[in-house]
Amino acid sequence: MIRPIVKFGVAGLQAPSQPVVEFDTALHTLIDDMIETMYAAPGIGLAAPQIGVPLQVCVIDLSIGKRGGQVITLVNPEFVEREGLQLEEEGCLSVPGLQATVPRSERAVVTGRDRDGLPITIEGHGLLARALQHELDHLDGRLFLDRLRGIQRDVIVRRIRKQQRQGAW
Ligand SMILES: [Zn+2]
Repeated sequence: MIRPIVKFGVAGLQAPSQPVVEFDTALHTLIDDMIETMYAAPGIGLAAPQIGVPLQVCVIDLSIGKRGGQVITLVNPEFVEREGLQLEEEGCLSVPGLQATVPRSERAVVTGRDRDGLPITIEGHGLLARALQHELDHLDGRLFLDRLRGIQRDVIVRRIRKQQRQGAW
């Protein structure tokens, strides 16, 4: 089931998520819905708080479903390594239509659990490393805006506020 994606301004989006304890059918339904919602958007990543669920779950698929078996599901993820620097434009399904150049590590290694609770490790360079950092930020209640310097962030927030006043957000 495709679920509505919440946008910047909804409080839950900027609160830390809770670890998953039960790897049950409710979790599997949540993950399936997140994957379907990500593909429909379309986007390359989605975190549970973006559909209003405060749990440490995120999904990533750089192919947006075009190549089978590419989807990564991460439950209770955490970084074990980050190194290097990349500067690329970044957007977010919860901040539609607005992008900014965000500094991120070039390489990231994350450990966590898969949908069945088994331990997994994901290593990413470039875009995958960026997606991992973006989605894990969501689980800490952080948006890409929060990684920008004051003035850059203010410009984007002003544009959002304007759209909110116009009822277009
Ligand atoms: Zn995002």
